[in-house]
Amino acid sequence: MTKSYDAIIIGGGIIGTATGYYLSKQGLTVLLLEKDYLTAGSTGRCITGIRQQFSTPATIKTAMRSVALFSRMEEELGRDVEWTNSGYIFLAHDEQKVETFKKTVALQKQFGLDVDYLSAEECKKIVPMLNIDGLLGGTWCPSDGQASPFFVVQAYAENMVKNGCEIIRGDEVTGITVKSGRVESVTTASGAVYGAPMIVNAAGPWAREVGRMAGVELEVEPERHEALITEGVAYMNIPMLVDYRKEGGYFVQRTTGQFIGCYTPEHQVKGRDTGSTLEFIAEMARRMCRLIPALEDVAILRQWSGSYSMTPDGSPIVDETSVAGFFCSVGMSGHGFMLGPALGESLAGYMVNKTWPFDMSEFAFGRSFGAKEDLA
Ligand SMILES: Cc1cc2nc3c(=O)[nH]c(=O)nc-3n(C[C@H](O)[C@H](O)[C@H](O)COP(=O)(O)OP(=O)(O)OC[C@H]3O[C@@H](n4cnc5c(N)ncnc54)[C@H](O)[C@@H]3O)c2cc1C
Repeated sequence: MTKSYDAIIIGGGIIGTATGYYLSKQGLTVLLLEKDYLTAGSTGRCITGIRQQFSTPATIKTAMRSVALFSRMEEELGRDVEWTNSGYIFLAHDEQKVETFKKTVALQKQFGLDVDYLSAEECKKIVPMLNIDGLLGGTWCPSDGQASPFFVVQAYAENMVKNGCEIIRGDEVTGITVKSGRVESVTTASGAVYGAPMIVNAAGPWAREVGRMAGVELEVEPERHEALITEGVAYMNIPMLVDYRKEGGYFVQRTTGQFIGCYTPEHQVKGRDTGSTLEFIAEMARRMCRLIPALEDVAILRQWSGSYSMTPDGSPIVDETSVAGFFCSVGMSGHGFMLGPALGESLAGYMVNKTWPFDMSEFAFGRSFGAKEDLA
């Protein structure tokens, strides 16, 4: 006999576990199916950054809500997730960026974000080790921060189960049954069939394939991003530094002392390849030392890569799809970890009450894709 649930979630990354937890909080019975292990996808490969400095209303509001959720996660979920308000500085090395940053700061302030545009000297006061050669200024948001993706996912998963839900690892969803335009059940690689009137595609880089199982085409394409982590040194409270120059990058000091970072490759490597290159490790080290010369003697411990799931406009697709009861929360680009808690909460709310907490049409399924946002 087919076992039935109120909802089935496909994917055990930040999106799947957060959505599952907030559904379980509303009393729904949920089954989460993960083909591998929790955090096996992009979530376990992210560099831990959490920011609210975005350039579109729904993204700013979502990110601010996520920060509110991260900051009381330990209290709500009973696990220290290494959340810290270590801040983010976006660095401007040319006049065009100065103009863009000042404009986005004005927009962010309209939503009550504690963000400011600072001179190069003021940036140096926050990060005394920062090399400010060529720096014109930067935006500083002290309530941005970082957390451990592993602990956050674990905390959501544990609490989902505490609330009476189930998680099955190591079983891949291979089919979705749709009858009369409505989802009915999923089939897995082990041959199991599970039924539910609501199914969520939270499959990250595999979202397009999972969408197609229900006959839904999603404009999501994975691309490879590499990352590295250094050995731990004394904690110096260095916030996430975002350097937008052609040879820039972004990195932060973890509260555990290591520096973790990545950069956007000049040439996109499409697909789910998670190989690493020598070029990245040498280049990233050079770029980090250019900004913080004191890092010169710090050893790199490890490098890896993972997928950004890209949509044409850089914003996620979080909505019910053209198939009734088939929802998606996909296309998270480089922001899925930070947006995950609030997106999980709002999608769960929408699935139960059919209302969004605010206008989230920027993330609508079937929208026409416009230009990419300024702070992508
Ligand atoms: C190098 C790098 C750095 C990043 N840094 C940051 C950062 O600092 N801050 C930030 O917010 N974001 C960052 N990101 C982006 C972030 O990691 C992703 O946006 C986010 O993790 C996406 O989460 P997800 O749950 O959608 O996908 P995933 O974590 O990929 O989860 C999807 C899961 O679905 C499972 N799955 C797929 N198909 C099936 C199936 N058929 N059946 C069952 N299970 C299935 C997969 O195994 C996977 O575990 C970074 C990404 C990379 C690669």
